[in-house]
Amino acid sequence: MSGLSTLKKSLLILSGVFLLVILITVLWTASPLAMADEGDYTRLDPAKAQSIDWPAITDEATVYLQDLLRMRTIRGDEHQASLYIQKILEKEGIAVRIYQHPEDPRRSNLVAEIIPDDIAPEYKDEGIILTGHSDVVEVNPERWKQPPFSGALVDGKIWGRGAIDMKGHIVMGLMSMLLVKRLDVPLKRKLMLLVLADEESDGKYGVKFMVEKHRDVFDGYKYVFNEGGLGTEGVAVPGSKIFNIQWAEKGKIWAELSVDGESSHGARPPEQYALLNMIQFLNAVHEMETDLTIVPEMETFLYQMGEAYSFPNSFFMKRNNNPLIRPLILPALKANRYLVAMTTNTRAFTGLNTNEDEGINVVADKAFAKIDIRLLPNTTPEQYLDKLEALAEPYGVKIKPTGTIVPNSSPMDSEFFKVMSRVSVDNVPGSVVTPLITPGNTDNTYLREIGLQCYGLTPVLLNSEELGSTHSDNEYLSQENLKLGTKIMFETVVGMN
Ligand SMILES: [Zn+2]
Repeated sequence: MSGLSTLKKSLLILSGVFLLVILITVLWTASPLAMADEGDYTRLDPAKAQSIDWPAITDEATVYLQDLLRMRTIRGDEHQASLYIQKILEKEGIAVRIYQHPEDPRRSNLVAEIIPDDIAPEYKDEGIILTGHSDVVEVNPERWKQPPFSGALVDGKIWGRGAIDMKGHIVMGLMSMLLVKRLDVPLKRKLMLLVLADEESDGKYGVKFMVEKHRDVFDGYKYVFNEGGLGTEGVAVPGSKIFNIQWAEKGKIWAELSVDGESSHGARPPEQYALLNMIQFLNAVHEMETDLTIVPEMETFLYQMGEAYSFPNSFFMKRNNNPLIRPLILPALKANRYLVAMTTNTRAFTGLNTNEDEGINVVADKAFAKIDIRLLPNTTPEQYLDKLEALAEPYGVKIKPTGTIVPNSSPMDSEFFKVMSRVSVDNVPGSVVTPLITPGNTDNTYLREIGLQCYGLTPVLLNSEELGSTHSDNEYLSQENLKLGTKIMFETVVGMN
């Protein structure tokens, strides 16, 4: 064989490999989000759709929201909101039950149902719950441009604590119930509006009370449309419109740590002592997990984000599961703390001290720390605590969990998720849906525990300023968003029936 033909052969092999690499690079992509196709979900009868006077519906919804925002339901007194909503629903012939907590009757939960006469066996346990919480968090009125309990309508914006989180969302559910009733929308399955108390303080008077004492309320229901995700406009990517639908919530371990050692003079420290052990253990915890865990839903999340980005980001994000591409994008993922929270069991140290407050020259014999861990859906608190305890042993650190929550999730490929995604995107041209995992917990935590499939989306489009206003200052919801949210929620209900 001549040298030339060997060269030719090598070149051929090389270009073949090169082509293969190019092909893998281009063709190996993650999966886009599966949404309902045309014909896979029900549209409202065109004559009925035509008859909806959306400006009038928006005005009506605005009044309801203003009234609700004027009620000071700050971690309490939700009963006034229940009574207000009850009156509106009952006037139109929708049956309502109110569940007051026996320890504090001013804290109540509302259940309103529309139940079709005949439900086919396959839809008997497939009901839909539209839900939200009627309590709100505290305010610092001096920092507000409009009084926080005024419900002021200024330039198309409805002001007040809870406008976004989440009385606006409740009004969207309320309007959806009214529209179903007024238009006599044919239902295949049960429909519920559930207004819960006490979400902001972990649900003792709200979701936990309902789930533990009134479990039967949920019989025949499967899907829940709740908070947890939000639509954003121009937040993550300039010009983007993204509906972030929560499908999972991380779990939690809060723990107090302690370690004993010997006390001594600060000028002659022993080789090991309590605080040093604690610091070294915390460092080991900090370093115990450096890789990101990218679950399939997260691959789809990144793919969908790729839809929002332009080239070249879009190219790389859509190929996030590609073995040739992933190493290239990992540094960017690791540099973004929101993405890190979605791909790791985060460990945050939230306290460190000793039993010697003043003694700067004393080596204390006890050290204490606090830790806040948030767990991905594939890890239970028990499993993680076992790992931590094994790690703590050589340092003599004792771990006392003070609160744990098991991670919870709902399938991304359910009919409900597919329909709400499709309806959202259809309402806003150029928008995308991402499946979101959130580090914090909502009522979904407890509703998923009893087997309900919960999806978190307040179906509006918020800019950064609006997004930052929940649990902060100057919270408002635009009438435009109130209308959009009502439309998406109502059409999702129609789409499922
Ligand atoms: Zn909320």
